[in-house]
Amino acid sequence: MSPIAPPTDRRTLLRAGTGAALTAALGTACTSPSVRSGTATPAGPADGTGTTPPTRPGPDAGLADGTGTTTPTHPATPSGPDGMTGTGGTPTDAGSTGGAASPYGTNPYGTHPDRTNGTAGPGTPGGSTRTRSAPAPRRFPGHPAQIEHGPRNRPAVALTFHGQGDPAIARTLLAQAERAGARVTVLAVGSWLDEHPAMARRILDGGHDLGNHTQRHLTVSDMTDAEALREITDCAARLRRLTGSIGTWFRPSRTQFATPRIQRLAHRAGYPHVLSYDVDSLDFTSPGATAVTRKVAGEIRNGSVVSLHFGYADTVAALPALLDDLHRRGLRAVTTTELLTP
Ligand SMILES: [Zn+2]
Repeated sequence: MSPIAPPTDRRTLLRAGTGAALTAALGTACTSPSVRSGTATPAGPADGTGTTPPTRPGPDAGLADGTGTTTPTHPATPSGPDGMTGTGGTPTDAGSTGGAASPYGTNPYGTHPDRTNGTAGPGTPGGSTRTRSAPAPRRFPGHPAQIEHGPRNRPAVALTFHGQGDPAIARTLLAQAERAGARVTVLAVGSWLDEHPAMARRILDGGHDLGNHTQRHLTVSDMTDAEALREITDCAARLRRLTGSIGTWFRPSRTQFATPRIQRLAHRAGYPHVLSYDVDSLDFTSPGATAVTRKVAGEIRNGSVVSLHFGYADTVAALPALLDDLHRRGLRAVTTTELLTP
């Protein structure tokens, strides 16, 4: 269907880099390029068993601060996704966050009793006059606790970005999307927001969705409940302070799929759904812009949720062609919220 064929195999991607660095890159990310969800590794041991140091802030930081002289290794699952996509149980605790209701009443965020934090200031570039809180998480009836894609019967897709890395790249990608009339979803890492707090407003002012991608982008599934919850709530607290909302989505770090346990923790933190994806661009492996475009164009279809990353030059080089391709095929790039809204 697509004029652009997907790469034939992983070696196509590997060719772009050299040995160890590339292998390391491929072994890391929000996901694993080779292992799909369905491998149903039992919740715990699946990730973190590899060689990626589990406790470092992660190569994203390395990229940003210039330590990454070779292929930038994106922090992520060394050995693949952990756990299954769960239809696994609607979380039982915590209230529904439907509509305007904020979950904060039951959540351990910060010490601020108020809801009007707006410290980011409304006057960031983008020109919005919005000063109210950003949208809160919602429950989307009919969708599982872990969402991989939207409806297959409507020509819309969601481009979702790991939010970390050089803010100049982030701004460029947002501008590219906006020029094409596209809206995206950014899952921000909390430490990134600490360094670049204005990005939160920039993203919202562009009409995009903003969500939580943990505080430090570590392997949360290796942590105790308390530690993992804290990774979620620490980022949520940043989002709340900057935007008045904990963000509409949560996506765990270093894995494509959240375990049922992480889903429960996310629910406890106020997120009725965990946002996965069904198309992996592999942009974090720096395979070249053409390979990124090809990979996505070859797999994307109605309802797809695509994993992309801020922080990589290939993504910047690939996005305009990718948006062109979507346009030609009549696939609208919308926020995840819009994708799922009937
Ligand atoms: Zn990530």
